[in-house]
Amino acid sequence: MSHDQLDELRDQLDKVNLDLLEQINKRARLVKEIGEVKRQQGIARFDPVRERKMLDHIAEHNSGPFETGTLQHLFKQIFKASLELQEEDNSKALLVSRKRHPENTTVNVKGETIGDGKQRFVFGPCAVESYEQVLAVAKEMKKHGQRLLRGGAFKPRTSPYDFQGLGLEGLKILKRVADELDMAVVSEIVTPKDIELALDYVDVIQIGARNMQNFELLKTAGSVKKPVLLKRGLSATIEEFIHAAEYVVSKGNDQLMLCERGIRTYEKATRNTLDISAVPILKQETHLPVMVDVTHSTGRKDLLLPTAKAALAIGADAVMAEVHPDPAVALSDSAQQMNFDEFNTFMTALESSGLIKQAVTQS
Ligand code: PEP
Ligand code: MN
Repeated sequence: MSHDQLDELRDQLDKVNLDLLEQINKRARLVKEIGEVKRQQGIARFDPVRERKMLDHIAEHNSGPFETGTLQHLFKQIFKASLELQEEDNSKALLVSRKRHPENTTVNVKGETIGDGKQRFVFGPCAVESYEQVLAVAKEMKKHGQRLLRGGAFKPRTSPYDFQGLGLEGLKILKRVADELDMAVVSEIVTPKDIELALDYVDVIQIGARNMQNFELLKTAGSVKKPVLLKRGLSATIEEFIHAAEYVVSKGNDQLMLCERGIRTYEKATRNTLDISAVPILKQETHLPVMVDVTHSTGRKDLLLPTAKAALAIGADAVMAEVHPDPAVALSDSAQQMNFDEFNTFMTALESSGLIKQAVTQS
């Protein structure tokens, strides 16, 4: 084949490309018009019967060299792209996305506006065991000016024979201590039917890792006026995490915080693998405050301080860790909760590290 011949064929191909381009856009304009008519008549935009007819019609007229299956695949892509054109541009962006809402959301928990640029902490025992136990931890926290008190009353345990929590009694203990010491309660709720009950006792409804895709729970938590802390699922991708968050916000509750708590990997040196880069990714992709739970992600007391430093340095809005007066006798997570000496060492090290951002800045 001569050089001239190749150029000639390429010229023809360029023209065909332009023809195709014109035809595809002509088709898109028609689809948009059809979409408008459908909207006026209140008809659903996607019509599978009509799509099937169009594909059959194409198959009837195909004389090759493309196989019918290949052509149908190509046309389906065109159909899909056209259908997307009918949708408003921003309906494609999630409510939790930065694209949709560029400013940071702040979550107001009894005057602590999490997400405002100041970095905060959530401390407390894994599980509420008694009034005295919670009170002792709360008093220790107050020495460091910490007001966000956590504690599990409903514990989603791996084994049904493990301590399941004190339930309502546990919520009452948390509220009593919080009222006495002017603190705010963060506690996990595991079933939609307890959300209403929780409203009287907690300041933040925690949704645990094991329930990240309990969609009924997400929807119920999204329908109340109470801040929610959503933890990342054990094996959830960031995309799944963001969609779980969307469930809550789409029901009307935008007082939502996210918590990276480690994910399951092949690594056994830590209980889970702290996905530290999830923090800046979640901050970029969403407008929600992001917390890091250093206790459940590492499961190791010797790693609490370095991972907390990493979380602060990378821009987490808050850090969560478990504290217990006597971890050795704790009814859950006894190996990884800090005792008071360890807690004081941990807090003092962080306070003197210069890493905790105090300024209220909107990035
Ligand atoms: C908790 O914070 O008490 C807890 C059970 O954590 P996770 O859901 O992240 O395992
Ligand atoms: Mn725990």
